[in-house]
Amino acid sequence: MRVGETGETASSEPRLRAEIVAAGASLTRLGLIRGAEGNISVRVGPASVLVTPSGWAKGRLQGACLVLCHLDAEPPRGASSEALAHLLTYQRHPLIAALVHAHPPGVLALATRGAIPDPELLKEGRLLVPRVARVPALAPGSRELAEECAVALGRAPAVVMARHGAITAGSSLREALQRMEVLELLAQTALSAHGGRV
Ligand SMILES: [Zn+2]
Repeated sequence: MRVGETGETASSEPRLRAEIVAAGASLTRLGLIRGAEGNISVRVGPASVLVTPSGWAKGRLQGACLVLCHLDAEPPRGASSEALAHLLTYQRHPLIAALVHAHPPGVLALATRGAIPDPELLKEGRLLVPRVARVPALAPGSRELAEECAVALGRAPAVVMARHGAITAGSSLREALQRMEVLELLAQTALSAHGGRV
């Protein structure tokens, strides 16, 4: 669903806040983030986005702590340190309605070997994450990293950030979350296969 074009209004904001809280708990439970790692955002209207706050354990988010950001303004204080990457991505890609950034251990392990998850390994890969892009190791929170991510997410729904983690996009938060789960499954499958050699 194109959230920005289908009449989503402030009335849907409580539901979207609850979805982000549930997504933070899910990412934590699955081991894709630990503690305050990672960040999540959802488009709530044509020019506004809800972003997770900086420094909060994502497994214990509360709806009221999420930060409302405007696409044409700098991220407000308290928003995730990676909020700029989210805002630039939404500005440039109207079809993207949700973003998930995590530090999946398998994806990171694979990246140390110079590899990224291969969508062809599994049926779910082809279906949900048909392309995976990568961006170089740049300073977390920097404009350079934000720009690289925004460009890469125009080419692929999943991006591996070298020595850092991954970011997935979706037309809903559910889709972005599923893509992160499948990305990690692809990585774990590659690591387990062939006696651990990639
Ligand atoms: Zn990170």
